[in-house]
Amino acid sequence: DRIARKRDREFSEFRKRIKDADQFKVEASVFDDATYGALYKLVQDGHIDAFGGPISTGKEANVYTALSGDTEVAVKVYRINASDFKDMRSYLDGDPRFEGIGSDKKKVVTAWVRKESSNLKRARRAGVRTPEPIAVERNVLVMEYLGTEEGRSKRLSEVHIENPETAYEVVKEYTRRLYDAGLVHGDLSEYNIVFHEGQLYIIDLGQAVTIHHPNADDFLERDCRNVANFFARQGVDATPEELLAYVREY
Ligand code: ATP
Ligand code: MN
Repeated sequence: DRIARKRDREFSEFRKRIKDADQFKVEASVFDDATYGALYKLVQDGHIDAFGGPISTGKEANVYTALSGDTEVAVKVYRINASDFKDMRSYLDGDPRFEGIGSDKKKVVTAWVRKESSNLKRARRAGVRTPEPIAVERNVLVMEYLGTEEGRSKRLSEVHIENPETAYEVVKEYTRRLYDAGLVHGDLSEYNIVFHEGQLYIIDLGQAVTIHHPNADDFLERDCRNVANFFARQGVDATPEELLAYVREY
């Protein structure tokens, strides 16, 4: 009918506009219709008013800035086609929140994004600084932007750490709080910790698993190894064993 035709026309115009937008040019070929649909829905629902430039183009996801009213937000778009979803599927194993989602590619990516959002919420409730999740639509996550108009806040790997002992204490405490909340990050390192407004933030919780995951212990050990070795290189008296013991201690 007439309303449906109008809606289709509006969507086509939206898709064309995004496809032509400079910041999406390089990526145009990898966005499928479902992704345009998700971005359109986020605009319709008032979560996004204008798209900004790319912050990061990773293996599985691209992160962009966008405006929501006057507020800058971060938009993480998982590329359904590029996603290594067989690997993604394995990170959902044993997670009581995502039982029986099967192995359909789109469903796995969608579950992954919902998992990232709920992990961010759970981490925040546990007293760990992370970007606040704002909205989820299919393979797209809208969240709080860590940065200024000048650009995104830097990763720990990119800054000179003034006081590594204090930074280590904070990351140590975050790792323990996550674990107490039943989560293991699974990719914790200086690349997924951001220094923003004088505070440390943990990002990238998509692959974080609950402690019920069959590999939770291995992931925790790896996280502790990455973190302790990084801070040891900064001159801190840190070891993976000591960190692991601290995190697991009651
Ligand atoms: P990669 O494979 O490059 O690690 P990824 O899929 O792991 O990417 P993220 O780590 O979540 O995705 O994001 C990639 C980069 O984008 C981060 O290292 C960070 O610099 C930036 N970024 C992500 N989320 C935000 C945010 N909320 N605010 C500001 N910058 C962000
Ligand atoms: Mn990352």
